[in-house]
Amino acid sequence: MKSKNSSNKATALIDANNFYASCEQSINPYLRNKPVVILSNNDGCIIARSPEARALKIKMGTPYFKAKESLNRLGVAVLSSNYSLYGDMSKRLMNLLKDFSEEIEIYSIDEAFVSIIRPKDKNLNPWARKVRCLIYQNLGITLTIGIGENKVRAKIANKLAKNIDHSAGIFDLVRIYNENDYLRKISVDKIWGIGKQTSNWLEGKGIKNAKELRDMDENEITKKLGIIGKRLQLELKGNECLK
Ligand SMILES: [Mg+2]
Repeated sequence: MKSKNSSNKATALIDANNFYASCEQSINPYLRNKPVVILSNNDGCIIARSPEARALKIKMGTPYFKAKESLNRLGVAVLSSNYSLYGDMSKRLMNLLKDFSEEIEIYSIDEAFVSIIRPKDKNLNPWARKVRCLIYQNLGITLTIGIGENKVRAKIANKLAKNIDHSAGIFDLVRIYNENDYLRKISVDKIWGIGKQTSNWLEGKGIKNAKELRDMDENEITKKLGIIGKRLQLELKGNECLK
């Protein structure tokens, strides 16, 4: 296996799938394996969908009054959001994750960066499988786990884990041979820390994906984006997390 970085430290981005809908399905057995959507405050629009609802091509953000009829017809369970439930489940999730990591940084209600030490054989897949299993057993929530040398690459690995069917929800960007092929799949606007303006500038320069940004001329990126751009590029190259 290729390793740019001999360090034993790794960073994982752990993210709960369809978090609000999974919380609801977890406490109400009647909702399991059924299409479920969650509405925003005052039942304005759709803010979360279970995988079964996604499969019915129900779109995020659709105003409820527009979707009401078809949701009815399709037999979709429609729920008002219950933030105290989601907050409580989030706390339980993060507490369980603490036991599996050296350090945890909660990033949002359903996402955390964790630091972990690679075992002797460097393979973190057994660890990731164990975390997924335990959280599913305890909370009924499915996780996606992306692993890299730092946060930028852990985020990319998480995206890859979501998009690659055979990943089983786990992707370790450090332990692959054809990294370039994977980095090419990530367009610049999807990279953590790249805003709309920056991605437009990059695309104007012909830099379309994470591989091209990683290999871009360092001076050019520093001139335009300063230290932040330089840091981002260093993380894309696999340097450890930069403070
Ligand atoms: Mg999520």
